[in-house]
Amino acid sequence: MTTDKAGIVETLVSRLGDSGVLRDDDALSRYTHDWAGDALGTPLAVVRPRTTDEVADIVRLCNEHDLRMVPQGGHTGLVGGAFPDRDQDELIISLERMNRIRDLDPVNFSMTVDAGCILEEVKQAADTEDCDFPLSLGAQGSCQIGGNIATNAGGLNVLRYGMMRELVLGLEVVLPNGEIWDGLSALHKDNRGYDLAQLFLGSEGTLGIVTGAVLKLVPKAEQTRTALLGLPSVAAVIELYTLARRGCSDLLSAFELIPRRCIELAMEASPQLSDPLDEAYPWYVLMEVAATGPIDLSEMLERLLENGMEKDLVLDGALASSDAQSQNLWQFRESMLEGQRLKGKHLRTDVSVPISAIPDFVDRAAVMVSDVSPDSTVIAYGHIGDGNLHFNILPPPDTSNEERRVLLHDLEQRLFAILDEFRGSISAEHGIGRTKQAAYLARLSPTERELMQGIKSLFDPKGVMSRGRILPE
Ligand SMILES: Cc1cc2nc3c(=O)[nH]c(=O)nc-3n(C[C@H](O)[C@H](O)[C@H](O)COP(=O)(O)OP(=O)(O)OC[C@H]3O[C@@H](n4cnc5c(N)ncnc54)[C@H](O)[C@@H]3O)c2cc1C
Repeated sequence: MTTDKAGIVETLVSRLGDSGVLRDDDALSRYTHDWAGDALGTPLAVVRPRTTDEVADIVRLCNEHDLRMVPQGGHTGLVGGAFPDRDQDELIISLERMNRIRDLDPVNFSMTVDAGCILEEVKQAADTEDCDFPLSLGAQGSCQIGGNIATNAGGLNVLRYGMMRELVLGLEVVLPNGEIWDGLSALHKDNRGYDLAQLFLGSEGTLGIVTGAVLKLVPKAEQTRTALLGLPSVAAVIELYTLARRGCSDLLSAFELIPRRCIELAMEASPQLSDPLDEAYPWYVLMEVAATGPIDLSEMLERLLENGMEKDLVLDGALASSDAQSQNLWQFRESMLEGQRLKGKHLRTDVSVPISAIPDFVDRAAVMVSDVSPDSTVIAYGHIGDGNLHFNILPPPDTSNEERRVLLHDLEQRLFAILDEFRGSISAEHGIGRTKQAAYLARLSPTERELMQGIKSLFDPKGVMSRGRILPE
């Protein structure tokens, strides 16, 4: 059944009230572009339900009338998945008013939350019971738990705690036909049948709208030590990483690769930052160890660094001796993202290869860039302990918009071809959405494509939910 779109919006207003349905351009502008300014869209309207029943009601209505919809969280996703196109034919369902902490159980190390809770607020709530929800990422002040689930977010601590997939115990989801699936289990072990909850992790809103989640907590770390180190090469970084994995009793919680250019970008974006070490080094590692209980982390870290220096892996380093100093070191990691954003349109990737292959991959890809566009700047950084690299490329500043578009597309294709040789992933972190779709589909085998399409059709036979994301329309 189809009805005119304006009529459906009026029905929604009558059910949710004026504040629950946004239609005018001023009110919509906040929901129509992403952090990077890459994704732009014009929705039919933005609806802002407060409860799971309201979400179910909206979805049922849309499904009955074949109206397309797209769930939206904190709009920090980087592949355009949460944004409609410009035809005003999709309804954005924003979860921002569903932000209740439903329950916190420090004995079970779990908490149940609305999907619209902002990650930072979930972490703060866990902290009140001496627990931590260990997902940490640069966008945590804006992104929502539902968005984190839909993108299977990772971040700075994946090497210790895993991605979102490993941090979710149960889910509540409104399916594309408006039915509510209550899978809010708080069990740590449960082997009954297929794991339905896991299907929604990384599904980018294409299988249903996550409205609630039971999250896994860990004991809050009683002590944390942070170090920023200067190293001569990516190969030295990987060698230090293997020493750290073995020498830190599995207490390593972050191990970030940062090139010199990113330290400069961070200082450009945040002028209060000064060069962290006495000299400039080609590569840096920002690492952290964290623990509860009686263990001497300082001694452990110092021993690792001595070992690294003896082997000529570590050339210099700064160890934070207070929380303020640690935050200052992390400020480089955060500000370098803003520094890149200020450089305008550039190639942003989030690829992965086996950790042991990182030095070769970085060398191969850097040679490719210098052959194709010698004046472009490579900035390869990332969560090296997960094999996840942001191999980004800044074109020369005087490149016109059209030249930039052509150059970046060419460089991306060449980079992905090198990745294929390493059996790497073109999306280790941000998902497929719309922007990675062509590259993703080109690499899917017929069997994989058939299975993926079968799953989508089972959940959403009419194709009303996030149509055209991951899989084509
Ligand atoms: C500065 C910065 C740093 C970042 N660092 C990282 C990082 O380290 N690791 C990482 O993995 N990502 C990172 N990201 C990407 C981004 O923050 C994550 O993808 C995040 O999980 C998106 O959450 P969101 O609430 O903003 O979702 P949105 O951007 O609103 O949506 C993302 C996708 O999820 C879907 N969706 C949103 N909410 C729901 C829901 N309730 N139910 C079903 N589908 C839904 C949307 O339709 C869309 O397809 C970073 C982004 C920025 C801007």
